[in-house]
Amino acid sequence: MDDKTLCSLCGEGHMTPRTENTVTEYRGQQGTVALQYAECDVCGSEIVGDAEGRANKRAVLSFRKTVDGLLTGEEIRAIREKYQLTQAQAAKLFGGGPVAFSKYENDDVAHSDPMDNLLRLVRRSEEAFWELVEEKQFEELLKRRPVRTAHYSAPEVLHVVLMVHMEEHVPMQAAKRLPYNAPLRSTRIVEAPQWMQ
Ligand SMILES: [Zn+2]
Repeated sequence: MDDKTLCSLCGEGHMTPRTENTVTEYRGQQGTVALQYAECDVCGSEIVGDAEGRANKRAVLSFRKTVDGLLTGEEIRAIREKYQLTQAQAAKLFGGGPVAFSKYENDDVAHSDPMDNLLRLVRRSEEAFWELVEEKQFEELLKRRPVRTAHYSAPEVLHVVLMVHMEEHVPMQAAKRLPYNAPLRSTRIVEAPQWMQ
């Protein structure tokens, strides 16, 4: 293991992994980042090896993403897992190369603003996610699309009685026989025929 590693400087001591909280600044904002190194128990040298160097770079980038208002690698992983996507599927759906999501999630690389917006949108809206899947005709994901539930409530059964005003013309002959100035038309209300209801 790492703590058995011999010191590369004195060749006698063993290296012990250490973490130090370090204040770092990015775009005028300060943050504390846990930086890793190894310390020799004999000569006291502090060495940052390849593994520690990578971890430190990720820790710093993670902090910078937060300052830039970008999702962290952890948040991106959570979004991908929410939709049960492999990293390859996520890249195919959202864009980026085949290893893009591995890099985003490990904070090896900062993703773009448009990528950030897209991921935030699908995090917020499952509907948006499935619409994207459909837009891209992503067959293996389409199969998993939940059956859409209708957004209307069951219509209440309304019985509407239609009343129609039917105008009846008083036959002219009959009108002539009327002894007074009758209206030419009479109006009466009848129930609408069955087929209209
Ligand atoms: Zn040493």
